[in-house]
Amino acid sequence: GGSMEVYRRIKELVEAEGLNTLVDLDKHGDSKKIRVSPSGCHGFCEMGPIVRIEPKGIFYTKVKPEDAEDIVEITLKKGEVIDRLLYRHPVTGERYIEEENMPFYKKQKRNVLKNCGRINPEDIFEYIGNNGYHALAKVLTEMTPEGVCQIINKANLRGRGGGGFPAGIKWDSVRKENSEIKYVVCNGDEGDPGAFMDRSIMEGDPHRVLEGMLIAGYASGAKEGYIYVRAEYPLAVKRLQKAVKQAREHGLLGENILSTGFSFDIKINKGAGAFVCGEGSALTASIEGNRGMPRTKPPRTVQAGLWGKPTLLNNVETFANVPDIIINGAEWFLGMGTPNSPGTKAFALTGNIVNTGLIEVPMGITLREIIYDIGGGIPGGKEFKAVQIGGPSGGCLTKKHMDLPLDFDSLEKAGAMIGSGGLVVMDEDACMVEVARFFMDFTQKESCGKCVPCREGTKRMLEILERIVSGNGTMEDIELLEELAITVKTGSLCGLGKTAANPVLTTLKYFGDEYLAHVKEKK
Ligand code: SF4
Repeated sequence: GGSMEVYRRIKELVEAEGLNTLVDLDKHGDSKKIRVSPSGCHGFCEMGPIVRIEPKGIFYTKVKPEDAEDIVEITLKKGEVIDRLLYRHPVTGERYIEEENMPFYKKQKRNVLKNCGRINPEDIFEYIGNNGYHALAKVLTEMTPEGVCQIINKANLRGRGGGGFPAGIKWDSVRKENSEIKYVVCNGDEGDPGAFMDRSIMEGDPHRVLEGMLIAGYASGAKEGYIYVRAEYPLAVKRLQKAVKQAREHGLLGENILSTGFSFDIKINKGAGAFVCGEGSALTASIEGNRGMPRTKPPRTVQAGLWGKPTLLNNVETFANVPDIIINGAEWFLGMGTPNSPGTKAFALTGNIVNTGLIEVPMGITLREIIYDIGGGIPGGKEFKAVQIGGPSGGCLTKKHMDLPLDFDSLEKAGAMIGSGGLVVMDEDACMVEVARFFMDFTQKESCGKCVPCREGTKRMLEILERIVSGNGTMEDIELLEELAITVKTGSLCGLGKTAANPVLTTLKYFGDEYLAHVKEKK
């Protein structure tokens, strides 16, 4: 909050003093001009509003509109740093001038988020100036569609929206489909209550998403793309619309792109915000104007997705990874993360943690590094208890998972999943049965009701959890809860139902004694 006010104030002062035109600020004979520019989210939510001064990279935190004058007078004109606006480590008291050295950023690897908070997302030239659309140009002039699929496959880019299906295999399947009409769909329907990674990318670097989709279009033989964004993300919708308009104006979208004969256009679709629309077939049904309900597979989306045509569906973060893979090569991507989960992953870090915010880390980083090094630990000197990863479809991890590498496969083995990438940290005071109840309440409301195990099962599970939380549960309730969890997991049609029981199953597994304590308290 307050960022726009800070921006306006600094801009006013800079313009009033004529610093936005060439001036010899430090009287060293070299003229400079100062440009004040808004940016997307910088990730360090806890410390906003943030002002970054280039080229030195001076990083001011918790800036208020009243600070604008000092920033102009002291930093912009004299080149001096204002001590009170610097970030101070809450425990060591150490102060930091540049973000690169701050513990919050040091262990991060910002690829997908590198422009977020750095460039003006509403200005296509700022994206182009940072290597933007270079990958598209390379693909269109030097590569075959098959070659593009191969490099994505070789990089082993796995879908960032959930289970981690290899994108290259998906892209190649769509490419091989014999159809005049194909579609590329970008899933921006981040429905997980603890997640905001995709929103930040769409708001902070919309052209990166468009470029990833354009490359996917060329690789698969599609001429049309859709971005499905939650209507609750109005700024993302606005920025994407602006980006699409600018890309069209500059010949990067539409007919005969960069005079190569390749045509591709993108439409933005506002979703109604149903969690189940994250599910591929429900999402395409919703774009078609039907009610967002999953259907049984086969046919798979790659064969018959949107309007029954072959469809390449990935989420925002997956597409956002594509341009850099094309520019830097598969080996570069394989050099980060773990062999089976290369690259980075964006996470939204929230809950009982000192540094909340949006982070991007190499896959395989441990929970300990995220919570203590990047997150700064648990506030109030409390103990860490658990973290809910992957939202309502994910599961909880505990102290014993502190050194587990966070990647697709290790998490699945632990009964959780990366899912969309929400990380909600809980301290020693958290009640894990209440956590399970909270997520069950969410999924139960979001169930589309098409199949019985999910529709009825989640309702019954919620009733039982409510009974246990309120101290009216019995031992039989706990047994029944577990049985139902397995029925819902195995009998449901789509991902929502299949994963709905995960928070219950993992809390039962790791915090079974808390369930027992609630039941015993009653007697
Ligand atoms: Fe709908 Fe749930 Fe069945 Fe999915 S599992 S189709 S959300 S009822």
